[in-house]
Amino acid sequence: MHRLYRAPAFFLVSLLLLITLTSFASAQFGLPGLKGQKKDSAEPSRPADGSSNSISCASGSQSAEYTEKDKKLLAEITQRPAVQEKIRQTWEEQRQTDMNKAYVRNRSSEFTNSDPTKAFEYRVSFGQLYDSPSQQRYVNSLGQQLVPADSPNVYSFKLLFDPVPSAESLSTGSVYVSTGLVAALDNEAQLSYVLAHEIAHVERKHLYNILRNQILDEELDKERQAQAERSRQKASIFGALAGAAIGGAVGGGSWAGLGAAIGGMSGYAIGTAAFRNKFQRTEWCKLYEDEADETGLKIMLDRGYDAREIPRLYTRLNGLVSRDARVALGFVAQPERVRERTANVQNLLSSTYKADIEQRLQSGGLKGSGPDFALLMSALKRDNGILALDYDLFAMARDNLEEAANLRSNDPRVHYYLGRVIAMTGRTPADAQAAIAAFQRGMRYDAQRGEYPELHLENALYLISQNNPANQPEIQSELKTYVALYQRNHAGGLPPNMPIIYDDFLLAGDSSWYIPPAVVVSTKNVDAIYVTPVAAAPPTATGDVVGRATGRMAEQATPWAPPPPSASHAAAALAAEPAPAPAPPAATPVKRTTPTTRPKGTPRP
Ligand SMILES: [Zn+2]
Repeated sequence: MHRLYRAPAFFLVSLLLLITLTSFASAQFGLPGLKGQKKDSAEPSRPADGSSNSISCASGSQSAEYTEKDKKLLAEITQRPAVQEKIRQTWEEQRQTDMNKAYVRNRSSEFTNSDPTKAFEYRVSFGQLYDSPSQQRYVNSLGQQLVPADSPNVYSFKLLFDPVPSAESLSTGSVYVSTGLVAALDNEAQLSYVLAHEIAHVERKHLYNILRNQILDEELDKERQAQAERSRQKASIFGALAGAAIGGAVGGGSWAGLGAAIGGMSGYAIGTAAFRNKFQRTEWCKLYEDEADETGLKIMLDRGYDAREIPRLYTRLNGLVSRDARVALGFVAQPERVRERTANVQNLLSSTYKADIEQRLQSGGLKGSGPDFALLMSALKRDNGILALDYDLFAMARDNLEEAANLRSNDPRVHYYLGRVIAMTGRTPADAQAAIAAFQRGMRYDAQRGEYPELHLENALYLISQNNPANQPEIQSELKTYVALYQRNHAGGLPPNMPIIYDDFLLAGDSSWYIPPAVVVSTKNVDAIYVTPVAAAPPTATGDVVGRATGRMAEQATPWAPPPPSASHAAAALAAEPAPAPAPPAATPVKRTTPTTRPKGTPRP
């Protein structure tokens, strides 16, 4: 019964603490509750943060000043068994909530492969891990190095697949950083600061302290209100008596009642005005945020990372918000808070930590970035850029994809999506040229694998838009390549927009080419269909598929041989066909800015 009664309070706390507005959705998914969990002592053995997202911190708010009387009262309230029990239960509920959240996040690769509607609901309610083992390993490895050697806590550092910059730690020991935040960083020093800030929340038991202090403040507030009410009642009685006396004196006997009523009202007003509760609760989370900022700075500096990167990180976040205000949705980048934190950190850098930084710079220097960071970023910026595009965060998508292309130029996925974002949002002929150039680069790097049939469709559409009859054979070839690669990727199924594709063929001077739709064959009660063993003839090689589709295979003597690397259709087409306007850019040398000095996954020095 007691627990039932407490249920609304639990939900209120959850609402405050959970990352998303839709936390309540957890109930509708029917997650198993963690009943019968053993009860720990009220003192947390494994507290968590009051991080950016977990707790809604208002900016620019004041801390309450406790009077001596408040302090005495607070000390008494803290000793009350009922209050201690409330703190213990609230903390326990927080830990259960966090365990459930961790569970769903840890299984997120399973739900993302399920029903899309359900996957979306889970994603919105709980978040989804970035499904990239090497990037996860890198971030975890960096975080583990930052944990103070004498820490009693066990951590795990993870990347959330979310374009909105955010960072958070749970009471389970997991620290999460969103891909949107990491994609905004310039170097490893900045990432180490973000992780160190979250570590600081855990080390300083901030989440537990916030829950506890908020409960104590509530109780103190209640106590003060009760005291004020008692004082007000006294004043009212006094006022009523005085009013009755005045009323009696002024109006004589019959007016005495009215006088008493007026006197009572004024007594109430006096009591309310004199004893109105002026207590302002402390913004504990803001207080702890500032503490985590300083402790995080110290942690990163202790590991030799350049703390002067912190203000640059905030400048970068500010720049992103000024381009798209939605970047601030995750709290981390809220402009007012960023201003406050920048000022605090600047102050620390030029005072408390000035000598330490100078000394470290003179003896060996400070770390900015490691070799693994650029490798992490090339894939992470790409994937976050694609995700941002799906959320209509166009500026972020284009920035991320352009940066990813600069970090590693031979990635067809980057060029395909970069072409898409430019084509989708561009306004000028120059934009149109930039988009087709990106698609053609993508085609070149995808020539062997043929993973992105759409690149060929885009190229065909571009050629059609040129309105040049000389392009017709190339257009037809590109359309056939698109359909063939699409079929290979979809178990023989045709693109859903085949009528439009046939129309494109018509525009390119071909009125006869036709592919029969794939038929679904049921084998129920039917003899097994004889299937030619595929081992001798790998039908999924791009060159073969494209060769058969475009008729070029007939010209070759050995139709089933895997094509030599340079003889793939797309590359050959780009080199040999009449040059479309604009001429495809000269083969871009593959840039690899990352010296791969050690194999991924090995322990970092
Ligand atoms: Zn924080």
